Amino acid sequence: MPASFKTTCCYCGVGCGIVVQQNRQGKLEVSGDKDHPVNRGMLCSKGMNLHYTVMDTSDRLLYPEMRYNRQMQRQRVSWDQALERTAAVFKTIIAQHGPESVAFYASGQCLTEEYYVINKLIKGFIGSNNIDTNSRLCMSSAVAAYKMALGEDAVPVCYDDIELADCIFVAGANPAWCHPILWRRVEAARAANPNLKIIVSDPRATQTCAQANVHLQLRPGTDIVLHHAIGRILIENGYTDASFIEQHTEGFAAYWETVMQRTVAEAAAICDVPESAIREAARYMGQAKGFITMWTMGLNQSAVGVRKNLSLINLNLITGHIGKPGSGPFSLTGQPNAMGGREVGGLANLLPAHRLLDNPQHRAEVQAFWNSNPISPKPGLTATQMFTALNEGKLKAIWIVGTNPLVSLPDVRFAEAALQKAKFVVVQEISNKPETLRYADVVLPAAAWAEKEGTMTNAERRISYLHKITDAPGQALPDAEIICRFAQKMGYHGFDFNSFSEIYEEHTRLTAGTRIDISGLDYNTLQVKRSVQWPYPKSSAGKGTPRLFTDHRFYTPSSKAIIHSFEDGNSSVPTDETLPLILTTGRIRDQWHTMSKTGKVNRLKQHIANSFLEIHPEDARQRHIAQDDIVEIFNGNGNVRVKAKLSTDIKKGVVFLPMHWGKVLQSDLNRANNLTHALVDPISGQPDLKFSAVQVQRY
Ligand code: SF4
Repeated sequence: MPASFKTTCCYCGVGCGIVVQQNRQGKLEVSGDKDHPVNRGMLCSKGMNLHYTVMDTSDRLLYPEMRYNRQMQRQRVSWDQALERTAAVFKTIIAQHGPESVAFYASGQCLTEEYYVINKLIKGFIGSNNIDTNSRLCMSSAVAAYKMALGEDAVPVCYDDIELADCIFVAGANPAWCHPILWRRVEAARAANPNLKIIVSDPRATQTCAQANVHLQLRPGTDIVLHHAIGRILIENGYTDASFIEQHTEGFAAYWETVMQRTVAEAAAICDVPESAIREAARYMGQAKGFITMWTMGLNQSAVGVRKNLSLINLNLITGHIGKPGSGPFSLTGQPNAMGGREVGGLANLLPAHRLLDNPQHRAEVQAFWNSNPISPKPGLTATQMFTALNEGKLKAIWIVGTNPLVSLPDVRFAEAALQKAKFVVVQEISNKPETLRYADVVLPAAAWAEKEGTMTNAERRISYLHKITDAPGQALPDAEIICRFAQKMGYHGFDFNSFSEIYEEHTRLTAGTRIDISGLDYNTLQVKRSVQWPYPKSSAGKGTPRLFTDHRFYTPSSKAIIHSFEDGNSSVPTDETLPLILTTGRIRDQWHTMSKTGKVNRLKQHIANSFLEIHPEDARQRHIAQDDIVEIFNGNGNVRVKAKLSTDIKKGVVFLPMHWGKVLQSDLNRANNLTHALVDPISGQPDLKFSAVQVQRY
């Protein structure tokens, strides 16, 4: 192999550039790419240890396996045997129960090429739209809100705007731990410009709050009340941009009526934050020349997630802070390629290049391009709907690609019962650890990061090429190759690609003429440029697009952005006398998702080795709980038992569990999603993972 490769980190949506080298002993080493525009040589703890996930193959799936019934042990088989049997079972189920009886559940960590072929397979050839990914748990509320407000699922902002802003409002996010390199850029911007004001809203005083001028430690579920109160203050103090509102937005009059319904004092009481702090935060926003709102799961993972998003985007719209340097609403992508997945249409309600499933012309365009069967207009099953349909017997077969729903889905014991009832389960994975393997009838070993090539799109629409650097162990294959081989076993044409670059070129051709046109891109261009931001049409003259809506023309029918108005209530399952505490869940700094990669790197366990419950000392005292006591957290869905960590950083009445841990030594009692509800946002389908009523007691 050559001495060094430049590639991209495969963990979070920041999308840092990585240099991978082989040392004299033949071992891989990684360092930050100093020339990369995202991270400028920096890497966080996860990125710095990424090579260990590839070098240690002790947990890797090496060969296809299958079994003929659940009483059998799975046996090692050849790829042909595994894929022929899978194709035979799929054909039988589809013949007996129709194309909607099968589904693919994939991952925001899939490469764009992988998403593309899965999407083409099920929508164009199998004939249903039953493909969803764990991005449904991550970004779908932001996607819906961008479309409703701006007319397109398009992040208007770029990372360079961070250095140009003089106010950043971080709402319901902890980027210091979850998007560390992006946050380093915020810290550096703050050091260069001490006048940069940072406002954080979060029920927990996280590491991000260390930089905050104002921390609004609100009660969970009251974000809309807070955003509306800020909107009212901006209006009453003349901080809005009347000319921008008049020329480039719709809906301001109704918004005015809505936000004037509560006084700021009433809102402060509901949110349980000082009125003076809300006013101070609003003043910083109103006086800013560049104003960025940033958010992620705290707003997205909610039963009113789309409304929370819209109420935040409204603050950019009424102040005119969008489509100009240092300003805009910035949804921080959780996963490395959630955006690339949406570009190819890899969700149950999308078509390639952000075309719409309910648009007959869009369906006809894609069908003609693929030379495929007619595309169904009926939206497919979302992530949580798939497991409900399995439980009800409507969905017979599920193919799980690169994700671990038996840790990450809400009300996870329900999901486990669903997999038990499935007639046929295929698990396509790199690791032998995920809990889903217990239910797999067919196991397909997949290549990991650095063992395959492809592309990803980060949070600022930046598309990067990832090199294949080393061979996959055993017989593991790249995910896209597995899907194409299966499609050919099914007898479908259009999957005989000779290379991954051919898949990518087909995808880019399908974007031509759309708002996310990247028809000017191919692997050669990406290998030379390393990364570019979409759109990148053929006419782009070699330049990407750092910032959108600079002409203040939006993708709505009127070309105006829409200021949406709605009630500010939360529809989560409320607390009561028996379940008085609000459980919120989230990430810790050095682990990623369900730990199938980070969990095997010893260095990453040094930060926090075990799950824990963060609880306020006053809530603990009332329950006779001391530091490190084993506590049981419970509600009607299930229970969790972990050690208590007493901290005044968490709001009284709120408790926190990390989301990473699953079954350890056959016990599932540290799995946070034993306690979460299957409730979802009615527009986005995103689960309400940040608000569950629970009780806690010493065990
Ligand atoms: Fe990887 Fe995200 Fe860390 Fe960058 S910030 S090194 S993309 S995990």
